[in-house]
Amino acid sequence: MSRRLVLLGAPGAGKGTQAVRVAEALGIPAISTGDLFRANIKGGTPLGLKVQEYTSRGALVPDSVTNDMVRDRLAQPDAADGFLLDGYPRNVAQVSELDAILADAGVALDLAVELEADPEVVVPRLLKRAEIEGREDDTEDVIRHRLDVYAQETAPIAAVYAGRGLLTQVDAIGEVDDVTTRLLASIDTAIG
Ligand code: AMP
Repeated sequence: MSRRLVLLGAPGAGKGTQAVRVAEALGIPAISTGDLFRANIKGGTPLGLKVQEYTSRGALVPDSVTNDMVRDRLAQPDAADGFLLDGYPRNVAQVSELDAILADAGVALDLAVELEADPEVVVPRLLKRAEIEGREDDTEDVIRHRLDVYAQETAPIAAVYAGRGLLTQVDAIGEVDDVTTRLLASIDTAIG
């Protein structure tokens, strides 16, 4: 069974943490567009210089830039048999682009997993993370903006995948280990 997976969920739902754990358990790479952008910004690459003005204010990086980066990453050999995408797709146009990237490779998405968390819970979590990690986009104003962008642009994606029968939802609230266990169980139930 191939495992080409997308992990959806609001900022602060625990996507990054869970993506790494789930991907490791399944033996596939976790591919985080946010991490890829942050690594480029840190390294001062041309891509990093281009995207920082968007990431720093919690706006989406233009699709043309993001899509090319994801296409290149998914073409790497480690993603040939499966991957877990964290933070992509982030709008409906990116859903179509992912479809196209996979179709060009002669494969298809197996499942979208949505981590469900109440915004009341995620804002304090993000503020706590800000203290620990010092992320530039974890200030309260930028967090609120990222949540708005999520509600307007990203949340509708779940309905698109649900319409295709590809969506499974998991409660993101609880101990990290318990959420990982729930995610793995729900992936197993959905695609074996
Ligand atoms: P994340 O680590 O997923 O919260 O992403 C951090 C920031 O990177 C976002 O607020 C966006 O500015 C940018 N970003 C990450 N993924 C995408 C994407 N798929 N499309 C556009 N921008 C993105």
